[in-house]
Amino acid sequence: MGGLKADLSGQVAVITGSTSGIGLALARGLAACGANIMLNGLGDAGEIETTRKAIEDDFGVKAAFHGANMLEADEIADLIAETNRAFGRLDILVNNAGIQQVAKIEELPVAKWDAIIAINLTSCFHTIRHAVPLMRKAGRGRIINIASAHGLVASPFKSAYVAAKHGVVGLTKTVALEVAEANITCNAICPGYVRTPLVESQIADTAKARGISEEEVVRDVMLSAQPTKKFVEYDHLTGLLLYLVSDAGASANGAAFPVEGGWTAA
Ligand code: NAD
Repeated sequence: MGGLKADLSGQVAVITGSTSGIGLALARGLAACGANIMLNGLGDAGEIETTRKAIEDDFGVKAAFHGANMLEADEIADLIAETNRAFGRLDILVNNAGIQQVAKIEELPVAKWDAIIAINLTSCFHTIRHAVPLMRKAGRGRIINIASAHGLVASPFKSAYVAAKHGVVGLTKTVALEVAEANITCNAICPGYVRTPLVESQIADTAKARGISEEEVVRDVMLSAQPTKKFVEYDHLTGLLLYLVSDAGASANGAAFPVEGGWTAA
């Protein structure tokens, strides 16, 4: 992680969906600044343990893992409770877990709609409702929801995802208003395309839905939306996250920050 730094020594961060992609990069960015980390997500147990240990070895912080499925309200409750049991505090909550499905609305399976809304939106409600009492008690807290450029604008064939991410932006604003006087902030980061496993898997689906080649999807669909014509990099998101969790970010509240090379300016 190049560039920005914050002093998060002794703080504790939960990052949902941090076994891969953006969530893992954000977890490592927070750990690099001294925060102890509660990882979460799906994946191979051996690989997750390697990821967890690498954070401890690379940054000299404590890292734990909780396998709560973001489809299950009681497991999400236990993620927050276990973080408090293990570390005795919760300073930073990053809601990042998410899935995607690219399909015409009339072909989107009902079960997939339900899962996208549950994992991408409803899980944020559950983590936040359990985290806020801990943060209120501590007198400080930072909640960051990883929405998307698709929390601000739409694209075809992404009805559930766009609906969920617009919902995340609405949830962010509402929570921000409720916690503002408690020295807690709640903001959303809205990335453009980042070349993660989630995006790799979308390329083939989008090619099918639009009847074009995979190369054309990258050039004409994904990067054509981003005026920079470049994928967003992990560091670009980590830098904003570090600002938001720092004391300098205390007045940023209820905002949805685009990090998408100018996509939503058009
Ligand atoms: P990814 O597929 O690499 O990672 C997703 C993470 O979520 C993984 O750790 C996965 O295990 C976890 N996850 C999925 N379902 C889960 C469940 N039921 N319970 C617990 N964990 C679960 O994806 P990514 O691209 O890194 O996406 C991370 C977030 O960023 C998502 O919310 C996504 O919508 C958002 N985002 C991504 C992009 C992009 O271009 N990659 C752009 C904008 C927003």
